[in-house]
Amino acid sequence: MNKEQYDVIIIGGGPAGSTSASTLVQLGHSVLLLEKAKFPREHVGESLLPFCYQIFQDLGVLEKMEANFTRKPGVTFSNIDGSSYSNWCFAHVIKDPSYLSFHVRRAKFDHMLLQNSIEKGAKVWEETKVLEADFTSSDESVTIIAERNGKRMDLNARFVIDASGQDTLLANQLKCKKPFERLNTRVAYSTHWVNLNWDESLKEGNIKIVHLEGEKLGWLWMIPIGEDRLSIGLAVNMDYAKAQRRELSKTSDDWVKDFYLQELKSSSLASKIINGAKIAQPISANGDFSYYADQKFGDRYAMVGDASGFLDPIFSSGIYLGMKGGQRVAHGVSDILNQKGRALLNDAYKDIEGAYKLVENLINTFYQPDSIKWAGADKAFDQSYEKFESAYSILHLILAGDFFTNHEKYIKAIELLRNKSMIEKYRNLIKHPEVEKGSEVCKRIDAV
Ligand SMILES: Cc1cc2nc3c(=O)[nH]c(=O)nc-3n(C[C@H](O)[C@H](O)[C@H](O)COP(=O)(O)OP(=O)(O)OC[C@H]3O[C@@H](n4cnc5c(N)ncnc54)[C@H](O)[C@@H]3O)c2cc1C
Repeated sequence: MNKEQYDVIIIGGGPAGSTSASTLVQLGHSVLLLEKAKFPREHVGESLLPFCYQIFQDLGVLEKMEANFTRKPGVTFSNIDGSSYSNWCFAHVIKDPSYLSFHVRRAKFDHMLLQNSIEKGAKVWEETKVLEADFTSSDESVTIIAERNGKRMDLNARFVIDASGQDTLLANQLKCKKPFERLNTRVAYSTHWVNLNWDESLKEGNIKIVHLEGEKLGWLWMIPIGEDRLSIGLAVNMDYAKAQRRELSKTSDDWVKDFYLQELKSSSLASKIINGAKIAQPISANGDFSYYADQKFGDRYAMVGDASGFLDPIFSSGIYLGMKGGQRVAHGVSDILNQKGRALLNDAYKDIEGAYKLVENLINTFYQPDSIKWAGADKAFDQSYEKFESAYSILHLILAGDFFTNHEKYIKAIELLRNKSMIEKYRNLIKHPEVEKGSEVCKRIDAV
């Protein structure tokens, strides 16, 4: 039995767990992080938002990010054949170096963040699986029951942070996991490709989102992750995938691969890009999107990242939500440990709830047929975005990750933007600094 007591035990070493660990150690606390896998380990989710930049600075890893990962100036939304598309460059609204975001190979990125936690002073035990958190102790500590090399261990801490990702360890234990009512269940299939026919916006580093309309309620992502590789994923409605599985399984012994290729080829835009290209690794599947825990924190516990909730990844929001949430929660927990009360933790969760609500609203704009058409959104602004500068800038800021501080204003803005006739009325509702012309990268992409 390990007799040592830690200030905080963190379950899971993904971006949310390692950010929480590094922040708590920086704030002077003792931290033990337990991770069931051996890093580096693969993970889906490779495109980051510019608002992560400040966190990289706070964690002291910005130079490593710049040295190791490819850059992302913005997002391109396209219809299925590429005849209608819109480019969104973060430089349009962000006038400092953070406008250029990153795409990452997750194995390398997550490993780098976890190593950073160790360098900062956190204890990290990999290949250690947490089984349960026991809150029944009379001395106000929490006992974490874990397993390592087949041996059970009881570990003590004053507080536990659950960052176990989609395993949702504590939400399952506390039976507080709920579906987002307004979001459909979806499934995603993805892999990496090489030898592709790159188009201009991909060459520039934009993530491309291709809308698959109708019953598919879906989309393709294309993420240029370096080494001449594209990560290409397919996300569709679960019911559609199940029906296709039944059909394809009659004749195919690899229905996943056949389904994935069938859907990519249903887009003439994607077909052109993968013509003659090669799949570089096995196709992975991720399903059952969109849930939240309705008791995200308590006296001696807090949930961060996917362990607290997960939203459809269409707007690449997950890692930023997890890292920013992890950082805010770490500050709140530090105050509790220092006997300074719970106000900071309560505030953190108010903003986390607001951020998830904002992203949920944004996601709904993509799937509702009467809402903003992202691939043609610039046309909805009549091509003359100067006239609608406030609305246009706000959408850029939301796409860049401005979820935590302005969520109330932005939720209102999204509601209004659902209705085209309201754009004119709305345009001066939220004032923004004068927006100069975009950066060189943006100008080049806008010219495509
Ligand atoms: C199809 C798809 C595409 C996505 N695309 C993007 C994208 O482009 N951009 C983006 O920002 N996000 C994307 N996401 C979301 C993103 O991947 C997640 O939001 C992010 O990984 C959350 O980080 P986390 O630290 O909360 O969880 P994770 O990264 O999942 O880490 C959780 C860790 O906990 C460990 N663990 C689990 N259970 C235990 C246990 N019992 N004991 C010990 N350790 C445990 C796991 O091994 C894991 O390492 C995507 C998600 C999906 C499904």
